[in-house]
Amino acid sequence: MDVIRFRARVDDLHIKDSQVTGVMLSDGQEIRSKHIALATGHSARDTFEMLFEKGVYIEAKSFSIGFRIEHNQSQIDEVLFGKDAGNPNFRRSGL
Ligand SMILES: Cc1cc2nc3c(=O)[nH]c(=O)nc-3n(C[C@H](O)[C@H](O)[C@H](O)COP(=O)(O)OP(=O)(O)OC[C@H]3O[C@@H](n4cnc5c(N)ncnc54)[C@H](O)[C@@H]3O)c2cc1C
Repeated sequence: MDVIRFRARVDDLHIKDSQVTGVMLSDGQEIRSKHIALATGHSARDTFEMLFEKGVYIEAKSFSIGFRIEHNQSQIDEVLFGKDAGNPNFRRSGL
């Protein structure tokens, strides 16, 4: 069963005999698995440091690739505010 755990951070990686065995969450729970995909984004320095201290091999990408999606502000307002889109009291500043 797939489970999404909100408000739970991966704080530690468990490794035995050079094989990952699981992760430790900030709520004290352990999730055991032999396969772990980390998708922490660019700014997870705490996780990168933890991996480095554990001796996990890390390699910088030599390139970055992606695509950019742009939406009209009115569309974003509609998704965020529904029938109240356009109401000046619900307008987000700076967007
Ligand atoms: C200001 C700004 C504007 C942008 N505007 C656009 C745009 O208009 N269009 C566009 O296409 N792209 C835009 N981008 C880029 C886009 O946001 C990123 O390319 C995209 O979000 C990267 O997705 P990701 O899943 O790799 O990482 P993220 O979206 O950063 O997701 C990583 C997730 O991992 C979580 N995480 C980190 N460490 C842990 C941990 N130890 N345990 C558990 N969870 C953890 C984080 O909380 C986060 O939720 C923008 C980026 C920024 C900063």
